[in-house]
Amino acid sequence: MTSQPLARTVGFKSGERNVFLHLLTACNLSCRHCYINPEQHGTQILPLATVLSWLQLLLDPDKASNLILLGGEPTLHPDLAAIIKAAKAMGYAVTVDTNGLLCHQLLDQVTPLELDYLSFSLDGPDAAVNDPIRGEGVFERCSANIRKAVTAGFAVSLIYTVSGLNIDHLQRMPELVARLGVRRFFIQVIGLRGKSAGGEAPEVPWQVDPEQWLEIVPRVALAAAEKGIHVVYPKVYLEPGETFECAGRVAENYFVFPNGRVYQCPLCEDHPIHSMVIEEDQLRRRSGLNEDRFFQLAIPEGCVMNKLLQPENISYLDDGSPSHQISCCLLKQEVLPLTPTKSHGSRKDDS
Ligand code: SF4
Ligand code: SF4
Repeated sequence: MTSQPLARTVGFKSGERNVFLHLLTACNLSCRHCYINPEQHGTQILPLATVLSWLQLLLDPDKASNLILLGGEPTLHPDLAAIIKAAKAMGYAVTVDTNGLLCHQLLDQVTPLELDYLSFSLDGPDAAVNDPIRGEGVFERCSANIRKAVTAGFAVSLIYTVSGLNIDHLQRMPELVARLGVRRFFIQVIGLRGKSAGGEAPEVPWQVDPEQWLEIVPRVALAAAEKGIHVVYPKVYLEPGETFECAGRVAENYFVFPNGRVYQCPLCEDHPIHSMVIEEDQLRRRSGLNEDRFFQLAIPEGCVMNKLLQPENISYLDDGSPSHQISCCLLKQEVLPLTPTKSHGSRKDDS
């Protein structure tokens, strides 16, 4: 008898906290779709002492806490290894999201026991697709570092940000992911933030339409799971009968930026509507019309921020009702391989 990989929606978990900490906004790449917005997020590199104090502030010892270290490019931070070790000692499960260039010899500075996941970003199965999006020579350098990390025993995952520029090449990824020895594959959807919201328009639209997404992504995820890979992708479109939930209301996510802004919703990050701020080593809730007010609104289209900020991905039937409800961007679908791999945390974006 042949078993099938198991596909399921991963609901928001109570008793779990996810901290997405942007250590800096500087980067050694200049991806066409970069979501970083220094004007909104600051340009400083968080000093080690500040990072350690913020990690203590954001830790809830009664909850499983996942820490995702981001940038910019987090491996540009001179104290990244010390931050990883300290976070692990505090009890966080630690992931680093890297663009793959791996500065400061990270692989020699930490051990696979200290780092739960090292996550690389590639946006194409070869240089011809990846490099026009992420930069000349990046595919080769990133894949070489993935091989090095796998050989050194690190648990490695790979993120592919789907857009109009690369969705037709997604089907070639399972073979590459398996060949590189990567255990977890995140298929991410492009969000209209940073450069993809305000930069130069690409030759085809950034966003893919629902039919393309629904036709391609679940099929590729299944193909990857059949090769023994744990696949996670955003749900994006709820199925009829599925209940809409906003993570801002039911989950504990902290998206933290070097200027102290703390958001609960990644779609809001281009706007000064963060619901919390870290000031004088205190995490404070802000009053006024901020993101948390929007989380309370119920609309037929599902996610309110999606409707406000990127309504292009909503289509309507003749009677005016939306053809799909848009799920929370943090709701994931996962396809488990037949051989289980360790899993923790959720993630939001590319690096
Ligand atoms: S993406 Fe939408 S549903 Fe999810 S937290 Fe933001 S506002 Fe809520
Ligand atoms: S998307 Fe990530 S890797 Fe690319 S330029 Fe932006 S921060 Fe750097």
